[in-house]
Amino acid sequence: MQSENRPIIEVRNVSKYFDDKTALDDVSLSIRKGEFVTILGPSGCGKTTLLRLIAGFQTASEGMILINGREMTRTPPHKRPVNTVFQKYALFPHLNVYDNIAFGLKLKKMPKAEIMRKVQAALKMVGMTDYEYRDVNSLSGGQQQRVAIARAIVNEPEVLLLDEPLAALDLKMRKDMQMELKEMHKRLGITFVYVTHDQEEALTLSDTIVVMSEGRIQQIGTPTDIYNEPVNSFVADFIGESNILNGTMVKDRLVSFCGRDFECVDEGFGENVPVDVVVRPEDLYIFPVSEKAKAQLRGVVQSCIFKGVHYEMAVLCDGYEFMVQDYHAFGAGMEVGLRVKPFDIHIMKKERVCNVFEGRMIDGTHVEFLGYEFECAPVNMEDSSKDWSHVTVEVDFDKIDLLDDAEDGMLTGEVKFILYKGNHYHLTVLSDWDENVFVDTDDVWDDGDRVGIAIRPEDIRVKVKAAESHE
Ligand code: ATP
Repeated sequence: MQSENRPIIEVRNVSKYFDDKTALDDVSLSIRKGEFVTILGPSGCGKTTLLRLIAGFQTASEGMILINGREMTRTPPHKRPVNTVFQKYALFPHLNVYDNIAFGLKLKKMPKAEIMRKVQAALKMVGMTDYEYRDVNSLSGGQQQRVAIARAIVNEPEVLLLDEPLAALDLKMRKDMQMELKEMHKRLGITFVYVTHDQEEALTLSDTIVVMSEGRIQQIGTPTDIYNEPVNSFVADFIGESNILNGTMVKDRLVSFCGRDFECVDEGFGENVPVDVVVRPEDLYIFPVSEKAKAQLRGVVQSCIFKGVHYEMAVLCDGYEFMVQDYHAFGAGMEVGLRVKPFDIHIMKKERVCNVFEGRMIDGTHVEFLGYEFECAPVNMEDSSKDWSHVTVEVDFDKIDLLDDAEDGMLTGEVKFILYKGNHYHLTVLSDWDENVFVDTDDVWDDGDRVGIAIRPEDIRVKVKAAESHE
């Protein structure tokens, strides 16, 4: 495969709205010719929408899409040099394998002999030679998906778009097909844009991974970049297993977490700055506490599970739970020491240190934000030089109470994302006002749980600016 450096696809500042729902928010992406790019993210993050905009099945609300340097934002799918393979095979059930693949070519009125040559070449490419005259209903899921891929590549597109094409297959078949897709990509030499929510699939297949969350691109990089240098705790959590903890960057090359200081290699964060600390489970060295090796952390094994090649242990150290992977088993109840190399401690800037909302004062003890009227501690509103209709409200993550029985009229929302931080959970809750609320809690919630959102008056900090600053 020759991958030239010029982009074949450019997505420039694209947003897509469905009524008042933002599916994509200012997305920019450049894809090189011949590249295998995977768009990866949890359900609902907008990855299918992005693929459909590239395919032409939907149109961007804002921004533009260029293919081969030509603007194609509004060009219909059949006029773009792309072809799409969907999760569901979408084969014509009344046609046999040959006719399914030949369908588009016949529409183009291509000579019979040429159609035959192309169909046979496409079948060979997907490892289905000799299946031409089989009824598609008699094929396994994997074989049907191969036919669907053959049908897409028979048109010789410059770009093959694949929307979770292996999602309906069982694990073994999925693994086999992953290898075949990779081979196919090499042989065809065309650009693949692949959508999946499966991080392992993305790491295995791609030249480049685009990690998305909530309609935004979080990180673009090679699989190793994304795995070794995640830019934020979302990416770290989503790609591979991670221990993610709150920490404080004490100064350059020194970070504190879990109640003690650790040498690290990061610089430039400033002094005493709150950060997220990420340590991969395979980067923690575990040993019996009696060994000479000096432990940085001491703890007790809570559980030990065999994972096929390695063991996975949960170790509780001073109230923080660490996941550790090792080829040796350390049984539950054992006292152990842990060490981590400075290089293996990943430090990430925190995206925020508390909730910040825009709001307005209603009266001296009521403030409106998140589309809801909250009671707050008394605020002296006598100073008329201040703009009380534009205030900023701060609430600490651990000062938001989530209730599973929302009372009538209460602000409600849905748990969208859960991050375990060793000794508590950090949740992203999408309020019904469509604004995120970030919550630290010891309680266990699930993705998709409906919750009531309550804040005590004394935990609401109101900040007001001078009136002029809004003019
Ligand atoms: P999944 O893996 O579950 O398909 P996804 O990451 O592909 O998720 P999208 O299908 O792109 O996500 O959807 C992104 C958001 O846009 C979701 O909140 C979805 O409900 C919304 N959405 C997508 N298509 C439409 C539509 N036609 N009308 C209204 N909302 C839509």
